[in-house]
Amino acid sequence: MDRRGFIGSTAASLALGACANLPRAALAPAPACLPRVDVSEKRIIRKVAGLRPYRRSGFVVRAEALGAKRLVHNYGHGGSGITLSWGTSQLALDLARVGPGEPVAVIGAGAVGLATARLAQERGARVTVYAAALPPETTSNIAGGQIKPALLRRADAVDDAWRAQFASALDYSWRRFQILVGERYGVRWVPTYEGGTQPSAWPSEMVHAGAVAIPATDSPFGRPTRRYQTMYVETGHYLEQLMRDIVAAGGRIEVRAFASAEEIARLPETVVINCTGLGSRDLFEDAELIPMRGQLAVLLPQPEIGYAYEFHDGYMFPRPDGILLGGTYERGEEQAETTPEAIAKIIANHAAINARACAP
Ligand SMILES: Cc1cc2nc3c(=O)[nH]c(=O)nc-3n(C[C@H](O)[C@H](O)[C@H](O)COP(=O)(O)OP(=O)(O)OC[C@H]3O[C@@H](n4cnc5c(N)ncnc54)[C@H](O)[C@@H]3O)c2cc1C
Repeated sequence: MDRRGFIGSTAASLALGACANLPRAALAPAPACLPRVDVSEKRIIRKVAGLRPYRRSGFVVRAEALGAKRLVHNYGHGGSGITLSWGTSQLALDLARVGPGEPVAVIGAGAVGLATARLAQERGARVTVYAAALPPETTSNIAGGQIKPALLRRADAVDDAWRAQFASALDYSWRRFQILVGERYGVRWVPTYEGGTQPSAWPSEMVHAGAVAIPATDSPFGRPTRRYQTMYVETGHYLEQLMRDIVAAGGRIEVRAFASAEEIARLPETVVINCTGLGSRDLFEDAELIPMRGQLAVLLPQPEIGYAYEFHDGYMFPRPDGILLGGTYERGEEQAETTPEAIAKIIANHAAINARACAP
């Protein structure tokens, strides 16, 4: 199943009709062959695994009281925590009603916590980030960094209020990442090929800029594809830069693990924003949160690979720190560890994809 596969089938079937009459002019010109990824066990430079914080009814952005404090939740982003980080954090800050000079505690230093901290600072708050683990030891460091929603919710488990939050969050994140493009944050646009010629469930100008449908006969992958552009984040580089930004703006970052909500209630700050990802399962007793493990085999960098792909049998994201090969979604696995079987399957799948691809 591809990253898109968990989105749900409703929009895909709606889109089917929309694309059946796609005008010829929208199709891509002749096939451009692409440099191939050199896939082999010998080229692996690291193997990593992470636990996506998945909820069938999607992320939680909600305010409540915690003793005398305002507590706002901002967690449960599944496979979309990089993608939606700025957007749900903006929603969380609206709920937090943070004023200039207000002391704010952000719990968590993954992509969501760090974006929340920066946005709170932009509103004039005095921010302390408390986290059990800092980058590079967070799930956010494992993420491939594609800006596109995936593995986020079940379509039949969300309501209109959540859908409105999602649309607003995606819109804000999409615009925010564009101003981070460049070396400083390690964010770049990359042309991407995905399986199928149908538009996906998401607003297509967002996360699918300039999409064209490519029939199998014209596709470098010998199967129907769509080519579009989206942004990719080199997550390790990006998270380090966000931490530097927070400190440069006068923020504090403290390593601290909380065992309970009561312990958080004893913090000196008047506003608390909970960005603990999977940690919210225990801290706030959210039984709906489950780990969805993902494994990656990272190959030696290949600077000539200037495109990404995403098919049901695996995805490849090219980054300066390596070629990321992925494609595992393991529900309920609690150990953030790779398995030899999964890595071998990733390598075999990507070797097959590249063997079939048209190379210059
Ligand atoms: C293989 C893989 C590929 C992925 N690819 C993508 C992708 O391409 N695009 C995308 O958008 N997303 C992707 N994701 C998903 C993404 O990694 C997550 O959605 C994201 O990391 C969640 O961010 P977060 O900040 O909520 O959580 P985390 O990064 O897990 O951060 C949580 C923070 O809370 C802290 N914390 C937790 N509990 C406590 C506690 N009790 N006390 C104190 N601190 C606590 C942690 O120490 C940490 O600092 C991928 C995930 C995996 C595993």
